[in-house]
Amino acid sequence: MKVSIKFVLYIIFLLCSNELISAEIVDFRFGSNAEIKRIVLDLNEDVTFSNKKFKKKIEIKFDKNISIKNPLKKNNHLASIKLDENLKILTLNFKKVIHNPNIYFLKKKKNKHSRIVIDYLNKIEKKKVIVIDPGHGGKDSGAVGVRKQLEKNITLAVGRLLKKKIIANGKFDVVLTRNKDIYLKLRQRTRIAKKSNADIFISLHADYNKNKRTRGISLYTLSENASDKEAAALARRENKSDFLGNVDLSDESSEVTNILIDLTKRETLNQSSHLVNFLIKEFKNDMNLLQRTHRFAGFAVLKSLDIPSVLIEMGYLSNKNDSKLLTDKNYHNKICDDILNAIVKYFNWKEKNSI
Ligand SMILES: [Zn+2]
Repeated sequence: MKVSIKFVLYIIFLLCSNELISAEIVDFRFGSNAEIKRIVLDLNEDVTFSNKKFKKKIEIKFDKNISIKNPLKKNNHLASIKLDENLKILTLNFKKVIHNPNIYFLKKKKNKHSRIVIDYLNKIEKKKVIVIDPGHGGKDSGAVGVRKQLEKNITLAVGRLLKKKIIANGKFDVVLTRNKDIYLKLRQRTRIAKKSNADIFISLHADYNKNKRTRGISLYTLSENASDKEAAALARRENKSDFLGNVDLSDESSEVTNILIDLTKRETLNQSSHLVNFLIKEFKNDMNLLQRTHRFAGFAVLKSLDIPSVLIEMGYLSNKNDSKLLTDKNYHNKICDDILNAIVKYFNWKEKNSI
């Protein structure tokens, strides 16, 4: 009889101590709103724990033995969940980097389990800033069309429409370097882009050529060496705007400019080329493109920017057909839709390639 009481007491002790030193994860739940993602671990007992946060991993080390009741569910952010029962560590491996993880404990209540809550952000959403630069303005009217249309008015009309369309997309902030008929030095334009923390810079223009048959869209990115004589001449014409403001940018020696092209700049030029490729893909469907659409030249307005930048010549004011199109609302709409699509695709591509 004595022995059996001892035995019963021993069993009770074992049960109690087991209760004290072990807990069980009974459920694993997920929740989220627009911004915050949440993982909830339901436990049958209150626990104490410490945690370690890594870029793509969270470790929870329990102070008592831990077990899992049912196989753990995963959500699509999680690559794996592992419990090391010996080390008492639960490891959550995420597919992508998680931001601002916040881990806290909610004690057991009458009808509720003890809970460990993990909140995190999937990504930190910051609106991309697009700076649109309607070329010329004020005393600098730019090219004059065969119907006497002024380049400065066309660039402003397209710039305003493009801003409207990009804002309506919802993912971007847009800054226009000018929203009225005013004269801006080229350096003022780049200063606006820098001050606005621009993610990309798009300068809008319309070209002219002695050969009246030349027509189509062309896209330019910055280069110290122009891709051909025409591109060099165009850069001279576009850069001339600053002579009107008595600023001569042509005196930067090539030695100095070469030094300026550091690695960052090369990367920026690289990015600019990617942006141009997305633009060409969009324009190709419904627009006339100049042969060798992507050209390079030393545009002052694209210089000194460590922001991916492209200059779009939307057509030739010297060509009858183009000059008609350049004042046509439908053409403006098409151009702006194409530019917006290219911007969206460029940033999607960039995001995919950044992790
Ligand atoms: Zn121009």
